[in-house]
Amino acid sequence: MKKHLLFLGAPGAGKGTQAELLSQNNSYLHLSTGELLRKEIEMNTILGRKVKDIINKGELVSDDLVLKIVRQNLDKDNNGWILDGYPRNLSQAHSLNEVLKEINQPLEVVFYLDIPEDVLIKRLLLRGRKDDTEETIKTRVNIYKKTTEPLIQYFKDLSLLEYIDADRDLKTISSDIKQKMA
Ligand code: ADP
Repeated sequence: MKKHLLFLGAPGAGKGTQAELLSQNNSYLHLSTGELLRKEIEMNTILGRKVKDIINKGELVSDDLVLKIVRQNLDKDNNGWILDGYPRNLSQAHSLNEVLKEINQPLEVVFYLDIPEDVLIKRLLLRGRKDDTEETIKTRVNIYKKTTEPLIQYFKDLSLLEYIDADRDLKTISSDIKQKMA
C-alpha cells in the first residue's frame, strides 16, 4: 500500500475531497496548503495577514512561505501523507524533492484528477468559498494552466503519474483511486 501520495489537478477538480476521504480511511496526514493558509487567515496570524489579499485575488502565495508550511508539517511523525495543492509550479516541485530527500520519504504516486474546464467552473461557483467569485476563478484557472499544468509532464517523466477521470461521482472516483494505491 502506497503511503506518500500527491494530488494534482485544477481548482475544483476534487483534490481536497478525495484527499480528505483517503487520509481518514488510512490515518494519513492530509496536507492541504490552501487549508493551512486559510486557517492562518482565520486566526489572523502574521502569516495570515500577509497572505489574505493574495489568496482572495486568486494569486499564488510566495514559494518561500508555502515551503515553510510544508516543511513544518511533513516533519511530524505520521503513518503516511497526502499532499494536496502542493507543488503548484516547477520551483515548488524541486523544493519538495529536496525536502523529501532530507526526510528520506520518497513520493510514491501522483494522482492527476482530470476534469473539463466548464465542469470545474460550475463546481467552483456552486462551492461559493470566499475566493470562488467569477473573477477570482478566472485568475486561478489561468494560473493553473500556465504554472501548474506543466507538472503533469514532470511527474509523468518520473513515472509517478496516475490518471484519474474526475468527471464522475465521488464514490466511483475514490474506488478508482483506492485500486491504484494498492
Ligand atoms: P483550489 O485548489 O481550489 O484553488 P486551494 O485550497 O488548494 O484551492 O488553494 C487556495 C489558495 O491558496 C490558492 O488560490 C493560493 O492563493 C493559495 N495556495 C495554496 N497552495 C499554494 C501553493 N502551493 N503555492 C502558492 N499558493 C498556494
